[in-house]
Amino acid sequence: MVRILLFPFIWCMARAAFVSRRRDEMKDYSNYVVYRFYDKFDTLQLPTTDHDVWSVNEQFTDVKLPKNVKLDAHWNYTVLIKDLNNAIRETYPMESMGDESSIFSLSDLDESFFNGYKDLKTIYLWFDYLHSTFPDLVSVQSIGRTHEGNDLKILKISNNPKENKKTIVVTGGIHAREWITVSTACYVMQQLLHNYKDHVRNVERHFLEKFNYVFIPVINPDGYSYTWETDRLWRKNRQDTYISSCKGIDIETSFNYKWSNNKVNSFPCDENYNGEHAFHAIESQLINSFLFENSPVKYHGFLDFHSYSQEILYPYTFSCDTTPNNYENLVEVSFGISKSIKQTSGKVYDVIAACKDAGSDLTPGMGAGSILDYMYHNEVQWSLQLKLRDTGNHGFLLPSKFIKPVGNEMYNAFRYYCEFLVDPELTVN
Ligand SMILES: [Zn+2]
Repeated sequence: MVRILLFPFIWCMARAAFVSRRRDEMKDYSNYVVYRFYDKFDTLQLPTTDHDVWSVNEQFTDVKLPKNVKLDAHWNYTVLIKDLNNAIRETYPMESMGDESSIFSLSDLDESFFNGYKDLKTIYLWFDYLHSTFPDLVSVQSIGRTHEGNDLKILKISNNPKENKKTIVVTGGIHAREWITVSTACYVMQQLLHNYKDHVRNVERHFLEKFNYVFIPVINPDGYSYTWETDRLWRKNRQDTYISSCKGIDIETSFNYKWSNNKVNSFPCDENYNGEHAFHAIESQLINSFLFENSPVKYHGFLDFHSYSQEILYPYTFSCDTTPNNYENLVEVSFGISKSIKQTSGKVYDVIAACKDAGSDLTPGMGAGSILDYMYHNEVQWSLQLKLRDTGNHGFLLPSKFIKPVGNEMYNAFRYYCEFLVDPELTVN
């Protein structure tokens, strides 16, 4: 009972500290705009290196640029986000301390935790709360410390932890600014637990009889904290590089399968800098040693949440010249996931090879060393990346009112995925 009463209090204190710090110290984006360029736009044409590519596909390229950059009149473009500071503001919790709706209920597992995005401290408190509520199902573990001394926490969900079942890994937040991926990983986990406890014979019980789960909702705790305290649009981790003014390594492409550091990802000031060697990002080392070094666990599935663009991506990322062994099955489960999302919310999620999304079909080296390829190469046959909403109106700055709708469509996607993997007819182990 004491623990239950303390949680809202601790969270209010953390939140008060955050609100006062936020007003004064956050990076100002009033001089920036996000544009959408059409017709296979080449960013090398831009008259500035101060640009950040948010999304690329065959139809358009979204780029954050300073307002005063002169754009060529012949380019085909529109303004996607005119007032970035306002878009950023809409992702934060309301500033009034009396915002009761943001305090998660502890008497039962309702969805109030998902009324707004939550900072790292609050999420870690919530992990402990899940453990205390479901001690027989949930264990929380730190798999090591990051550059800035944060714990990298994972949650194991199992109805019999001693049994070495096939294990499914679900991750979010590898790119710090993609907050919807963190809330979605948490939402999926909450629904799995909630439904398991609520019903006597249900599909979640079946899942937990067949699988163990590992959730890592915040793979990049340093970067995530930095987006709450200093720069909402930060993407990488916060490690030092050989250029002292440019911090951070892209964790996503810091893994050892086909890792290469070439002209597209070798400059520390770039958003896609993937370090000086494979596993240079501390978080990728920690994940590797937890998952695969001296571990008897058989990892079967991997779902990695990203944003934005509403896509389901299957391996490989590093090249479009190589096709996965179970290509047909991966495409089949991806289209099934897409269909389950459409039936839930009407939203369309495209199914494509990850190499096309990364751009490695056009620019060799893009996407080299990705976590998706790494997991697949380590025999996690059912490895997918899911890029969540939206398609650009808000980009990385999806307002908090979308947390539940996105969580809901992704939970149904997750259920479809698990049901597909349970199927004994599948020949892949
Ligand atoms: Zn991402």
